[in-house]
Amino acid sequence: MSTLKIWMNGSLVPEPEAKLPVNSAAVFYATNVFEGLRAYWNQADEELYCFRLAEHFARLRESMKMMRFSVPYTDAQLYEAARQVLAGNEFREDIHMHMVAYVTGVGVDATEPTGLYINPRRRGRIEGDAGLRCCVTSWVRTSDNAIPIRLKSGSNYQNGRLATLQAKADGYDAPIFLNGHGHVAEGSGATLFMVRRGRVVTPPLSADILESITRTTLIEDLVPRVLAQDVAEREIDRTELYVADEAFFCGSGYEITPIVSVDRFPLGDGRVGPLTRRLSSAYMDLVRGVDRSHAEWRTAVYGPRGAKVAVGA
Ligand code: PMP
Repeated sequence: MSTLKIWMNGSLVPEPEAKLPVNSAAVFYATNVFEGLRAYWNQADEELYCFRLAEHFARLRESMKMMRFSVPYTDAQLYEAARQVLAGNEFREDIHMHMVAYVTGVGVDATEPTGLYINPRRRGRIEGDAGLRCCVTSWVRTSDNAIPIRLKSGSNYQNGRLATLQAKADGYDAPIFLNGHGHVAEGSGATLFMVRRGRVVTPPLSADILESITRTTLIEDLVPRVLAQDVAEREIDRTELYVADEAFFCGSGYEITPIVSVDRFPLGDGRVGPLTRRLSSAYMDLVRGVDRSHAEWRTAVYGPRGAKVAVGA
């Protein structure tokens, strides 16, 4: 049984005691919104750094707004909750967390009362070395006018679940979604990038994708700095994937995860591509604080710097 402690509505509780009522909208309809984020252990600094907390809090608030939730926590209180759960479990290792706001009222239109928990998990890297063999799934990414993916609710993830199980049943590692317009959207829980004729390309925010924080990190910082080019944000057709030189998924959980084939078409020489490799190692250095740039993106959990880092209003 897990010995991890979960932060739930103001206190740390052993995981088996963190419970939700069966009739709640949270359990029955998955009426929640959440963030998945990571904290990285930096051995040289003896410090645990959360990556881009302020951006995760901002996106959580946008999801709450779209769901008409009220969760009365300031960003400073959300930071304190994250700090408490990480320090309270005495983590000195890389940790993944889910920060979840949920509704315990009953019924499809319940908007309150709301609660919040932070659930830390030991979760390693996803298939980083060999690369993923992907398919273009026949399931379509849900549209912004039906079940918007911009809104990060647990209920939305059944779309990814259907596609992932189908992909695995068909002998692939992971699906790539097209949207209702027939253009490439994203992975089940990750954003997609491809490299074509040397250019790094990703679908636009209007392609029925989550507004990924890792995507922003690549666009704002890593691709210009490491590869000396700007990311092209434009629609991608399915067949472009087949003739891409490289492709990868990115996300807080996925980090940079290479894709080596799509629908059994090998990308490039069928091995992890060189630009993907460079971006992946640059990303890991940045999130861990080995690369000291963008200190404002890393919030320290233990040290005095933690108190000084702004996490938004
Ligand atoms: N798309 C979906 C559907 C996701 O669940 C995630 C993971 N949060 C991503 C993309 C990547 O987003 P981020 O970089 O903010 O983790």
